[in-house]
Amino acid sequence: MKKIENILPGIRKNISLKNYNTFKIGGPSKYFFIAKNKEDIIKTVQVVKKLRIPFFILGEGSNLLVSDKGFKGLVIRLQNRKYKVKSLILHAEAGISFPVLVRETTKLGLSGLEWAGGLPGTLGGAVIGNAGAFGGEIKDVISAVEILDGKGNVRKLRRPQCNFSYRSSILSKNNWIVLSAFMKLKKGNKKNIQAISKDHIRYRKERHPLEYPNIGSIFKNCNLKKIPKKIRADFSHVVKIDPFPVVPTAYLISEAGLKRLRVGKAEVSNKHPNYIVNLGNARAKDVIKLIHLVKEKIKNKFGITLEEEIQYLGF
Ligand SMILES: Cc1cc2nc3c(=O)[nH]c(=O)nc-3n(C[C@H](O)[C@H](O)[C@H](O)COP(=O)(O)OP(=O)(O)OC[C@H]3O[C@@H](n4cnc5c(N)ncnc54)[C@H](O)[C@@H]3O)c2cc1C
Repeated sequence: MKKIENILPGIRKNISLKNYNTFKIGGPSKYFFIAKNKEDIIKTVQVVKKLRIPFFILGEGSNLLVSDKGFKGLVIRLQNRKYKVKSLILHAEAGISFPVLVRETTKLGLSGLEWAGGLPGTLGGAVIGNAGAFGGEIKDVISAVEILDGKGNVRKLRRPQCNFSYRSSILSKNNWIVLSAFMKLKKGNKKNIQAISKDHIRYRKERHPLEYPNIGSIFKNCNLKKIPKKIRADFSHVVKIDPFPVVPTAYLISEAGLKRLRVGKAEVSNKHPNYIVNLGNARAKDVIKLIHLVKEKIKNKFGITLEEEIQYLGF
């Protein structure tokens, strides 16, 4: 059988994944490939499937905990980054940086993505997990998504077919690959739109521990309906809409006295307790231990089961 490196020129071996995620944690990937266009992605997936090599689609790694042992397969990093706007429809490839899309659309006075000011990652990462912030979600503007399904077919799904829900979609449940997305924007007041986006960026800088490597919120916020009835009233003052009523997990962690809880060099942030920060050379196993500890303590104190928002690779 032919070797993968002979079929896919440009493939690299033994690449540290530390440099490819915002947590700066994780071991090497056996194979690593940067896909710069749709054809690259399709061909690479065809090849690894044929060779029965496990693969993983990587955006900017801003929602990802990579194992210290790394990954014994091929990481395909998406860098397909073209986009165009025509008649208020933005069509962009999955590997484009979301902050770039927000900056460019708000600059054109187009409304629809300003809620995402300061949201890191790629468009593909945002679509697959229905990213959201400040009351907005990517699903609100999506009109269609172009995917590569498990059988190797390229398909265009309209928004209702994507079954978007809180930080999830049918795309993530089926491990489909987002190739590009179509978003319907509106004409708006450029100054107002830019001000909203900048305000969110400023808020994040003030309230989130961006001075340390991190991967954003570790846990999903808690659906108010899932909070045990006898303690629900205790949280009424902190309930927010995200986009349904939730109790912020950061509040629960803070109330349980877990700020600054530390394992090795991984620490529950004092600034935003739903973040874990890497104080320097933290290991994935430290983060895992810390996640388990937080879950256990929240379960014991409030009877609430926290659910991770982050994704895992190599465990
Ligand atoms: C400081 C900070 C703040 C954050 N704030 C928010 C926030 O407010 N709201 C929020 O929702 N998230 C937030 N996040 C999490 C993260 O930014 C988003 O989830 C982002 O959309 C992930 O994109 P990514 O390209 O980094 O994905 P990755 O981390 O690279 O990947 C995440 C998952 O998506 C999959 N994936 C990525 N691209 C594709 C694709 N094209 N097709 C199929 N699967 C794909 C990966 O396989 C993996 O399972 C934050 C993160 C950080 C570091």
